[in-house]
Amino acid sequence: MSLTLDEARARAAVVSSVSYALDLDLSGTTSFRSRALVRFRSDEPETFLELRGALSVSLVVGGEPIEAAEAAYDGERLHLVGLSTETVNEVEVTATLPYTTDGDGMHTFTDPVDGSRYVGAYLGMDNASKVFACFDQNDLKAPFAVTVTADPADTVLANGAVVSREGGRWVFATTPPIPPALLVVAAGAWHSVRWSGVTAAGEGLEFGWHARRSLAKELDRDAAELRRTTEACFAHYADLIDEPYPFDSYDQVFVPGLNWGAQEMPGCVTYRDELLPRGAITDTQRAVRASIIAHEMSHMWFGDSMTMTWWEDTWLQESFADYMGYRVAEAGAGFSDLRVAVEIRSKPWGYRSDSRRSTHPVAPLAEDVPDVDTAATIFDGISYAKGGACLVQLAFWLGDEEFMAGVNRHLTRFRFANATLADFVESLAECSTKDVRGWVDAWLRRPGFDTISVRRSEDVPVLEREGSRPHAFTVAAYDSSLRFVTSTRVELGAEPVALPDLAGLVVVPNAGGETFAALRFDAESWQALAGGLSAVEDPLVRAVLWSSAALRVRSRDLSADDHLGLVEDHLPTETRAEIIEGVVSEVRSEVIPRRVAASRAAGAVARVASAAAAGLRASADDEQRALAWASTLAATSADAGMLRAWLDTGRVGPGVPLLPTTRWEAVVRLASLGEADARFIAAERDRDGTVEGELGALRALAARPSVAAKDAAWEAMLASGVDNRRFGALAAGLWIPEQAHLLRPYVDAYLAEAPRLATRGQAFALEVGRAFPAIALDDGQIDALRAALAGDVPTVLRRSWEDHLDDCA
Ligand SMILES: [Zn+2]
Repeated sequence: MSLTLDEARARAAVVSSVSYALDLDLSGTTSFRSRALVRFRSDEPETFLELRGALSVSLVVGGEPIEAAEAAYDGERLHLVGLSTETVNEVEVTATLPYTTDGDGMHTFTDPVDGSRYVGAYLGMDNASKVFACFDQNDLKAPFAVTVTADPADTVLANGAVVSREGGRWVFATTPPIPPALLVVAAGAWHSVRWSGVTAAGEGLEFGWHARRSLAKELDRDAAELRRTTEACFAHYADLIDEPYPFDSYDQVFVPGLNWGAQEMPGCVTYRDELLPRGAITDTQRAVRASIIAHEMSHMWFGDSMTMTWWEDTWLQESFADYMGYRVAEAGAGFSDLRVAVEIRSKPWGYRSDSRRSTHPVAPLAEDVPDVDTAATIFDGISYAKGGACLVQLAFWLGDEEFMAGVNRHLTRFRFANATLADFVESLAECSTKDVRGWVDAWLRRPGFDTISVRRSEDVPVLEREGSRPHAFTVAAYDSSLRFVTSTRVELGAEPVALPDLAGLVVVPNAGGETFAALRFDAESWQALAGGLSAVEDPLVRAVLWSSAALRVRSRDLSADDHLGLVEDHLPTETRAEIIEGVVSEVRSEVIPRRVAASRAAGAVARVASAAAAGLRASADDEQRALAWASTLAATSADAGMLRAWLDTGRVGPGVPLLPTTRWEAVVRLASLGEADARFIAAERDRDGTVEGELGALRALAARPSVAAKDAAWEAMLASGVDNRRFGALAAGLWIPEQAHLLRPYVDAYLAEAPRLATRGQAFALEVGRAFPAIALDDGQIDALRAALAGDVPTVLRRSWEDHLDDCA
């Protein structure tokens, strides 16, 4: 049972002044020992600590061992009675707990390259209690004094700076007050790049980047850029934010098996180690990674020092970090055009999420998030993408000076404390003469998005809004050949806005991506844009137009056929790799599996392949574009001879290397075409030798077009203890849109088994939801999904299935 809002409020009302001394012994191989000394005041003689899945527990209260400790423990909670309401209580909980392989809890990973074992508590929501007994809620922040015993050969990283180390025993500096969910411990044979820096206040601060020893070459390859980006973002935040950096060190570590892209652990940020790719790193990956670095760094203030009280404000932390991530990586670290990435990658996710029944206001009420399981479902396209877009609009509407003044007032006021949206709005309103509360009601308290339409009065463009929100944005105007003529700022409310100065011109509203709204063009404008999309000079406007086209496919204003036509006509000459990748990803993950009948999937994939072949030919002088197209062609081509030649030579063409991830795309594709058998795949796996190779091989084996291969993949997905990455790789191989005829039994089996699989934990339940059949479902299968939803489905999976139902039906 996950913690409820009512329980959290009741506990926060009586428990206070919490601190932890935490001692973790990671030297065991099958389980670890956790000793938590929890000091706190309580206004009631009874309360509870969360502690989940402990194999054994002993309890000492006020120095007295409690004989019936086992009786007080129900497997999830430790019930405390007889507490002092006068003095500080000291409760010591010693527990033996199992390691995990799903990233939730004390995660273990053994590197196939060198046998090194990595042990880490990456935690996050609802996971701290799998590592130590705690009051696992954001508004019971506490200082943590952490000691860790690990293999003496290992390096151990944690939130605080290292105070001392003796053999395998590490002592870390006590942290400022932080929520238990943000504790981090990472032990292993880390390869490290460290340096000493200085804070804005002139104090010394130790920085470090760390990765698995087998990724040492990759970390060294990128170390200069990672350091430069870290320093530039750090300096930029020092300019933007009044509060000094809140923690005593800043480590960043690429960890194996992380369920999220990255996590904002105070003083020690974790990143999934796929962000340190083997071979080469593409410019798109570099830019996205920089935005993640800046995103996590913003959380040091917004989330870690000032923390949401309950999970309804998840959006506020994530939207703010999303917004700052792009802004600071661009303005601070010099990664240009990140707004293109926002339009092509992030906002389509927001529009998709906002079109489903599960959509919710960006800022829900606390009561709409009644428990932590529900909270696990709102780390979605609303909380990140739409919320981030709303903050772009807010800063544009409010003016940057007022916006940052309000942010700073809020961060200073709630240093090392907890706050709510109401507090944030209060701080903003104090710094602006505009109606901030009205804006918040219109934008943040209502689900859905408006449509901005262009119609003509004679030849004068007139903008109209369907919906309820005030919009401020740029309109760009073009001649009939789509040459840029001029742009203008427009504020659009209930009243239409005529643009007589732009008479006779093609106009694109929201050309700077400032607002979050669907676009509907007059027929002539759309005809010109559809005919000349690739001629539009500004990549940001092209991204806005592609994103708009994707949304029109979703709402069935544009057929999948016509969308594929746009891809064939305009994508091969697209000059920006991030736009190529974004459009292809949308087509492969959304359009083909959801908008193209199974019998026509092969034809649609072939059209993508032909666009990719044309794109690759047109990219001879641009390696970044060539790499993007190679990856697409590897995943879609039916030309087995060409793909084998790539594998043989290790090159896609003259001057274009075959990156390891693209190599695996090609192997998986060959397997799905029936052109790679188990021996061939095993040879590729051995050649690779890394965990990516193991995952690639699992995916390729599952992609083979035979009942035996599909049976084996499905069996492996059902195996108890299968880790998240393996489960995801098997699912990615299992569901191939062109193999729908072969996959009927597995759709039924998935619908029958998934609810049971999803009881393992939130992160695994998310993975089970992502493993939903990525093939076109027929009406009978959609009915079967509806029937399954009428049964008992865990919260996290239910949300995912309802989303899939809305996407299919
Ligand atoms: Zn975040």
